[in-house]
Amino acid sequence: MNIVERHKDKQGAIDAQTRLLGVMGWPIEHSLSPAMHNAVLARLGLNWRYLPLPVHPAHVRDAIRGAAALGFRGVNATVPHKQEVMAVLDEMTDEARAVGAANTIIMTRRSDGSTHLSGHNTDVAGFIDSLRAGGFEPGQSRSALVVGAGGAARAVVYALQASGTGRVTVLNRTRDRAERLVADLGFASDERLCAGPLDDARLATLAQDADLLVNATTLGMWPRIEGSIWPDSVPVPASLTVYDLVYNPLETRLLSQARESGARAIDGLGMLARQGALALALWLEEGVDVDWATDLMREVGDRALGQRRADAGMVQ
Ligand code: NAP
Repeated sequence: MNIVERHKDKQGAIDAQTRLLGVMGWPIEHSLSPAMHNAVLARLGLNWRYLPLPVHPAHVRDAIRGAAALGFRGVNATVPHKQEVMAVLDEMTDEARAVGAANTIIMTRRSDGSTHLSGHNTDVAGFIDSLRAGGFEPGQSRSALVVGAGGAARAVVYALQASGTGRVTVLNRTRDRAERLVADLGFASDERLCAGPLDDARLATLAQDADLLVNATTLGMWPRIEGSIWPDSVPVPASLTVYDLVYNPLETRLLSQARESGARAIDGLGMLARQGALALALWLEEGVDVDWATDLMREVGDRALGQRRADAGMVQ
């Protein structure tokens, strides 16, 4: 009997059999993950719950060890904890090590009562799977521009490199950070990966020869929804695929600019849903159909964002 069958048909009241999952972040109030994960767990009929866990940065290591001691099956780590959690892991995947961040931790209790913590990074596959689902196939003949050099950009650049993208250029407001990203990912001497400072003219020029533009900055995110990495004075090349990691709002100004030019636009909710479904599959030991869970998580996330827009009186 697998882990899903063992816990099936028992969703109802929380009891001693309830298995726990959660997301640690600071702040965590606006996270869509609890609604998305609990919807899938409920639909599977599992006596599992996924909790929002507000954890101050000073307590991340204690919180991870504490959750393991409490018998949690695992947690997601989100901003700003994805790097810090790595300090308490017993092992991590090559991906998590290379990216320098773990967003999913599996907690396994051994027969002697001790716990084993393994770290994964589902943002990498979450990005590349959702890019493909959006209609863009990465490959040797493709070139990509990634704007941003934070945690999300690291996962995106790693994913593009790993999927064989011919050329990846990283542009960032703080140039040093882009250069560090390129060096950290171990491709410093690789001509297929380079870094530079972000400015309007450079972005518009490089985009003429690129196939994919990824926004991995916070520009355009609620409440500063007027922000965009793309300059107003230049149309987005129609041949470009534009992927915005920002998912609140779903239709960012950057995506509107792309659509106005006839370029393909992909929003960030697909990645959020996919990385969540992949995390759940790890905790449930493959006992969930990842495509089905992705679709359900996206639907729930979309609905939650719509509700927030309505509550905030946002017109979109
Ligand atoms: P982060 O580590 O804080 O990095 C933020 C990035 O945004 C940095 O490159 C920063 O540049 C840049 N930036 C901030 N303000 C800027 C401005 N005014 N002009 C130009 N660049 C600016 O954040 P992160 O964790 O990488 O997240 C980045 C975005 O991705 C967020 O919107 C987040 O919600 C989104 N995200 C989405 C998913 C998903 O599943 N869809 C997953 C992860 C993240 P400097 O280095 O110069 O400060």
